[in-house]
Amino acid sequence: MNSSRNICLIRHGGHQQPGSTTFTVGLGFGVVVVHGVPARVCDLCSTDWLDDSVAEKLEQIVEQA
Ligand SMILES: [Zn+2]
Repeated sequence: MNSSRNICLIRHGGHQQPGSTTFTVGLGFGVVVVHGVPARVCDLCSTDWLDDSVAEKLEQIVEQA
């Protein structure tokens, strides 16, 4: 399993690369957008994955929004 850690979950041959993404979450009163979120981004399909620590931080931001 460890050797496939950086392979895109869609399994089309893409690999996850370090990068950043824009995180958007819809709330009852509107949309919160966070730019420049550290993430891993597939070099083929641009699907992004957040690290757990980053996701936690975003949750805190959303709660305070
Ligand atoms: Zn991909």
